[in-house]
Amino acid sequence: MNIQKVPHVVIIGAGFGGLQAAQKLAGAPVRITVIDRHNYHLFQPLLYQVAIAGLVPSQIAYPLRSIFRRHKNVDFLMSEVTSIDFDACFVKANGSVIAYDYLILSVGGQTNFFGMQEVEHHGFQLKDVESAVATRNHLLEIFEKASREVDIEKRRAMLTFVIVGGGPTGVETAGALAELITHVMAKDYPYMDFNDVRVLLLEAASSVMMTYPEELRKATRKLLHDKSVEVMENTKLIDYNGQQVTLADGSTIDTHTLIWTAGVRSAEITDRLGVPQAVGKRIRVEPTLQLSAHPEVFIIGDAAYLEDEKGQPLPMLATVAQQEAKAAAHNIRRILKGEGPRPFHYKDPGLLATIGRNAAVARIWGLSFSGFIAWMIWVVLHIYRIIGFRNRVLVLINWA
Ligand SMILES: Cc1cc2nc3c(=O)[nH]c(=O)nc-3n(C[C@H](O)[C@H](O)[C@H](O)COP(=O)(O)OP(=O)(O)OC[C@H]3O[C@@H](n4cnc5c(N)ncnc54)[C@H](O)[C@@H]3O)c2cc1C
Repeated sequence: MNIQKVPHVVIIGAGFGGLQAAQKLAGAPVRITVIDRHNYHLFQPLLYQVAIAGLVPSQIAYPLRSIFRRHKNVDFLMSEVTSIDFDACFVKANGSVIAYDYLILSVGGQTNFFGMQEVEHHGFQLKDVESAVATRNHLLEIFEKASREVDIEKRRAMLTFVIVGGGPTGVETAGALAELITHVMAKDYPYMDFNDVRVLLLEAASSVMMTYPEELRKATRKLLHDKSVEVMENTKLIDYNGQQVTLADGSTIDTHTLIWTAGVRSAEITDRLGVPQAVGKRIRVEPTLQLSAHPEVFIIGDAAYLEDEKGQPLPMLATVAQQEAKAAAHNIRRILKGEGPRPFHYKDPGLLATIGRNAAVARIWGLSFSGFIAWMIWVVLHIYRIIGFRNRVLVLINWA
């Protein structure tokens, strides 16, 4: 096969969607170029563990070149894509121009602060390695500072940790942070009064874990309560100046730590493409995952907006991105054979969130689990999904 003569598939983004798409197209009669601004694939579901110093970044990041080296028709380019010309079929990445026959856009998402610039400036977030490491460094530093602070009010503010957003990421972060404090910090700082410590989880809606069934919301509240996390539902944050949170009812909370997990939107590049966007700035796609005016372009994962059979937007989840990647790769193979693309249908594998050690909530095969059984399911699934044998073993040892 003359590799230069076969169609060129460019995949932008090597996260959950892009990586799966490249693997599913490897071996097809195409030449593939995967472009990502990082040279590693990041397992984002465990970022909060980096933030609480439970894992180091290399345990959840895997080098892309090592993944692709066994595939002869896959090339990798570490570069930031700055623009796409859908009419002329090329992308610009750090000054290079790369032409494509088919494009898979899988650029993922980024934290959505809903225009609250002060919150973005002073708060912490969990989206990439840099933000998780910055959060971890701050948490370790603030305990050092608090241990030397003699003013009681100032020390209380240092030891008040506010997590905003009662979805799975906020719940997981709050539970893990509470455990870091009780299991590690309390031993590392034996002379500090830990009665001053507060971990608050703020949720603007009427319940944490809104997308979960009621029995699991209840279980989540109880598991968080058992770990001394204060859950504040119907509580909307409107500002944060680095020292004080202001709530919609006018009340304030003094804190030096705000971790924002309350919003996500598609990656910034999607704003510059001149294509219709929906909620969360995600790009509207056809049921086949194609861009309506450009059938050679497929958009998948967090960057894509598609509704399910009930008219609900597909969630921004790794499971959606991976299933869409398989469907997009399958459709490209079908088009190459002269067949029509098929619509995508999401198969919901269930819901799962951990709340510190030995506790989780799960909804699988129509059944709800909470506590230790759910946590075992969570451990097995996460270990299974982490890329690389070495990383799996290291993560297991660390957790043990
Ligand atoms: C803290 C956290 C916890 C999560 N927990 C879970 C969970 O438990 N279960 C679950 O199913 N989902 C979870 N998710 C969501 C899940 O990670 C995303 O839905 C998934 O990563 C989306 O896959 P994707 O391929 O669309 O994007 P990503 O996996 O985000 O990949 C996008 C890739 O595109 C690259 N990129 C972006 N812009 C450019 C550009 N301009 N040029 C070059 N490269 C670019 C990025 O570097 C990145 O590698 C979590 C997310 C976070 C942040």
